[in-house]
Amino acid sequence: MPGLSSEVDVAVIGAGAAGIAAARRLIEAGGVSVLVLEARERAGGRAWTVDADGVPMDLGCEWLHSADRNVLAPLAEEFGFSINKQRPDWTARLRNSGESEAAEADWAAERDAFYWAVHRLAQQPEDAPCSAALVPGGRWNTLLNATSTWANAVELDRLSAKDNDRYQDSGVNWRLHRGYGRLFEALAEGLPIAYGTAATHIDHHGAGIAIETSRGTVRARRIIVTVPSAIIAEERLVFDPPLPDKLAAAAGLPLGLADKLFFHFDGDAPERFLIGSTRRHETMTYQVRPFGRPRINCFFGGRFAASLEREGFDAMVAFATDELAGLLGGDVRQRLKPLAASFWRQDEFARGSYSYALPGHADDRAKLATPVDGRLFFAGEACSLNFFSTAHGAYETGTAAAEAALASLLR
Ligand SMILES: Cc1cc2nc3c(=O)[nH]c(=O)nc-3n(C[C@H](O)[C@H](O)[C@H](O)COP(=O)(O)OP(=O)(O)OC[C@H]3O[C@@H](n4cnc5c(N)ncnc54)[C@H](O)[C@@H]3O)c2cc1C
Repeated sequence: MPGLSSEVDVAVIGAGAAGIAAARRLIEAGGVSVLVLEARERAGGRAWTVDADGVPMDLGCEWLHSADRNVLAPLAEEFGFSINKQRPDWTARLRNSGESEAAEADWAAERDAFYWAVHRLAQQPEDAPCSAALVPGGRWNTLLNATSTWANAVELDRLSAKDNDRYQDSGVNWRLHRGYGRLFEALAEGLPIAYGTAATHIDHHGAGIAIETSRGTVRARRIIVTVPSAIIAEERLVFDPPLPDKLAAAAGLPLGLADKLFFHFDGDAPERFLIGSTRRHETMTYQVRPFGRPRINCFFGGRFAASLEREGFDAMVAFATDELAGLLGGDVRQRLKPLAASFWRQDEFARGSYSYALPGHADDRAKLATPVDGRLFFAGEACSLNFFSTAHGAYETGTAAAEAALASLLR
């Protein structure tokens, strides 16, 4: 691990997907000194794989969304990561969970109609919440809301229709057998990263930029800030002079909450996806035996996840166990062993899971991404205009910020 270098050309703050991409691009270009300041003792940020009994579990990102257009898919192959290209049938969750095929078809039609309604809403001058596209009293409104807490980490009433409509989803979703987080560990290997180094204060008064960190001051000609939007909005990283436009943009792009809970599961069912309830907002979605492994992975979001985080691990386990008993029969209780859970809201260097735009704030992503003074550059999933809230979106913004920083140094 490199020590703190007091003076560099470019300092990158954060070694998540965006920071890793930025550092890789800068080093590939050559001719500039680079240092990445990372608060944690590991790289990857919200990409984080842990193992239990040799089985990898992604506590953060797992899916290579829009995989056929995802910059990380070819990189993963280049780094020797095998990709599972079996596309998940998330719609069949309803049938797998006891709904009739007719009900499932009705849901699929209603869901498509809803997304078209959001698209039409997004063409209006005002940026309305996605909830305005719901059919009043609609049978599937609760499930649409729950689905939003998984996809967007927030309920529809807080979600900008314009922003949501800009998200590009090719519908192709792949996974890595070894875990998405492990890919970022591999991509970060050999990069000049100072771990355990939290940046707290950025003084950009003078010609050089002074970054105060938990391990001393680093001076840089350029900085690339890749911390989550919540870290900027909550002023856990302070700019001096202040950047009120950045603060306002970051506040318009809060981090929603989505969490995961992992069970060891003794059972030989084929891999499939389930939903706890199509009629309750407080429910989880389940991945039974992912890759045929002895696991059930549970996923939950929004206000429900926030309340379960507050209640703690045992409450998460109790809730999921009850829902799984309802889905798979009471004897499943003896076949489940809780292993781990995420607590992304409580994580002091994330403060949530992924960003969404509040109604009226769809343009904040471009504002957050805009460089300041040709010296301060910004990247991270919240800065992505079309692939926000994803790892590949974050990665692309990191590469773009590095290229902009390099160009500014040549000027
Ligand atoms: C539960 C969950 C499921 C997800 N599922 C998917 C998925 O399936 N597919 C997908 O594509 N995406 C998914 N995501 C989103 C994806 O993980 C993120 O969008 C992406 O990893 C964000 O990368 P980033 O570089 O923008 O931010 P981060 O990964 O948060 O990186 C920022 C880095 O900055 C560091 N940092 C923070 N404050 C400071 C400071 N003051 N000083 C120094 N360093 C600091 C942090 O420690 C972190 O390492 C999921 C996320 C979660 C939480």
